[in-house]
Amino acid sequence: MITAELRHLEPRYDIVISGAGPAGMAAAVGARARGAGKILLIDREREAGGILWQCIHHGFGLHHFGEELTGPEYAQRYLQQVIDDGIDVLTDTYVYDISPDRVLKLMSGSHGIRLIQAGAVVLAMGARERTRGAIRIPGERPAGVLTAGLAQKFVNMMGLLPGRRVVILGSGDIGLIMARRLTLEGVEVLGVFEIMPHANGLNRNIVQCLHDYDIPLHLSTTIVDIRGHDRVQGVTVAPVSETFKPDMSRAWDIACDTVLLSIGLIPENELSRRIDLRLDPVTTGPIVTSTMETSANGVFACGNVVHIHDLVDFVSQESMLAGRAAGDYVTGRRPPADNIRLLPGDNVAYCVPHTLSTDREHVIYMRVRKPMEKCTVRFGGVLDKKVRYVFPAEMVNITVKPKVLENFHGDTLRVDVVQR
Ligand SMILES: Cc1cc2nc3c(=O)[nH]c(=O)nc-3n(C[C@H](O)[C@H](O)[C@H](O)COP(=O)(O)OP(=O)(O)OC[C@H]3O[C@@H](n4cnc5c(N)ncnc54)[C@H](O)[C@@H]3O)c2cc1C
Repeated sequence: MITAELRHLEPRYDIVISGAGPAGMAAAVGARARGAGKILLIDREREAGGILWQCIHHGFGLHHFGEELTGPEYAQRYLQQVIDDGIDVLTDTYVYDISPDRVLKLMSGSHGIRLIQAGAVVLAMGARERTRGAIRIPGERPAGVLTAGLAQKFVNMMGLLPGRRVVILGSGDIGLIMARRLTLEGVEVLGVFEIMPHANGLNRNIVQCLHDYDIPLHLSTTIVDIRGHDRVQGVTVAPVSETFKPDMSRAWDIACDTVLLSIGLIPENELSRRIDLRLDPVTTGPIVTSTMETSANGVFACGNVVHIHDLVDFVSQESMLAGRAAGDYVTGRRPPADNIRLLPGDNVAYCVPHTLSTDREHVIYMRVRKPMEKCTVRFGGVLDKKVRYVFPAEMVNITVKPKVLENFHGDTLRVDVVQR
């Protein structure tokens, strides 16, 4: 892969992209397609590609490439486009600050600190996993409690097994995938425990990673104690009530040496906070317009840093849009400003983007709060879309054509998901 040398960097780039995962790479390709000149893609890791390198399972690219790829295959396809487009890639470099006039501070172990002025910035820093501290599991603090993504890195990239008898807390996709992965490596996966009454991962992962391997999924159940001095020796699990109160009379012990946590991802928004971007309290990512521009002029954002996606294909779609918009920004072709604000209504946790313009087609990504079957997604009385089912773990995405929005005359469009 090409890696720009920090010491050969220009002091000014048309577009600087922070984070070279699938979001950053697609944004770079999108910006180039719109005629942006000098584009710099930066990542703190030694390779561009983001989380995809450790995801060696299939399931990537069905929507985008029409074939089922592994994570590394998907990353390689985008990386090739980045290389073919002559985009500068700078790895092993951390973007640790950004100013409102788009000066980025970069830090590298080998080259020290550099300042780069950007015409436009794209934030694509992805997300990190929630850890034990986020949910305060009671018990001792032994070794052997780790996040599912870290375990995935150990197994798939470093050839290390995290343990021999594993309990998984949380039914997010990474935990489900690791349940299967560890089983294939001869580890005993004793069960997946989920505090909610429904699973938090994609249905296809429940079937392919748990059911196919006879791994039990315990809904409305959580870990109430972790035991062990140096190393995990066991956990206690208990069913919970509707208000998530553990029923200790029905608790049971499980002997294990490892606890994997798959309890959600948090968008990496330290840089966004440095420039005081307006953040959505639900997604915790930046509030964005229909061109993925944040509340700071010329600063765009895309991918998991904005909201957590379940499929990388939609990350690429959204990020291509952000990159194109950044390209338009630096080449002076800005589209008309948005004139409609989206308001999440009944059973809608959030919508991205947060605003729309009546003159263009939009893809709206949203998540629901609770599962529902045979329902309708209702857009402010101008569009009703019937859907078979909705599920908090599965992002809903709906295309809205400009002719639909022509019939809307307010400035706030409420989105509801209602029973048919
Ligand atoms: C374990 C796992 C399994 C998955 N399985 C599937 C699947 O089967 N199918 C599917 O379609 N999707 C899957 N996904 C989802 C998909 O991989 C993600 O949606 C996608 O990787 C998000 O892309 P991103 O670029 O936003 O974030 P990331 O891939 O996380 O990339 C962000 C990049 O930004 C860099 N970065 C962050 N902060 C800085 C900084 N300050 N300076 C420099 N660099 C920085 C990071 O090093 C990283 O390389 C899976 C995800 C995970 C974690």
